[in-house]
Amino acid sequence: MPGRPQATMTEPRYFSTSGDGPTPWCWRRNDSGTLRPWPPHTGDGPSLPKAELPAGSWGERLGAVLDWSRSTLAAVHAQVDADPLGAAVRFARATGRCCCCGSARLQSVPERLSSACVGCLGLLAHDTLSGLVARG
Ligand SMILES: [Zn+2]
Repeated sequence: MPGRPQATMTEPRYFSTSGDGPTPWCWRRNDSGTLRPWPPHTGDGPSLPKAELPAGSWGERLGAVLDWSRSTLAAVHAQVDADPLGAAVRFARATGRCCCCGSARLQSVPERLSSACVGCLGLLAHDTLSGLVARG
C-alpha cells in the first residue's frame, strides 16, 4: 500500500573547530565518516606556515608538510569527536548555516537556537536536538 514516504533521521554533518586565525576551520563529514574541509574549494585545509618549514632537501620539507597535515587532521577529528554537537553549533554560529545540510541559512529563532534549518529540524533525534539547543 503506497503511503507517505518515511522521513529518515538526520544528524549534524558540518562542524567547525576552534582554529587560530580570522577564518574558522569548517569541515563536512562525508558518508564514510571522514572529515573534509568545507567549503570544498578550500583544498585540504590549513597550510603549514612557511616559517615552520625546515631547511633541507625537497624530500625533508615534503615530509614535514605531510607530517604536519596528518597531525592537523588528527587533531580536527579528535576535537570534533570529543564534542560533535558543540562543533556543529560552532559551525552554525560561524557561517549562519544549518549544521545538518550546510546549505540553508538559519533565519528564524527556532532555527538559530537549534543550529538546524526547518527542513532538518524535524528529522533530528530528540537527544541530538536537545544537545544542540543546550550548546547553542
Ligand atoms: Zn538543514
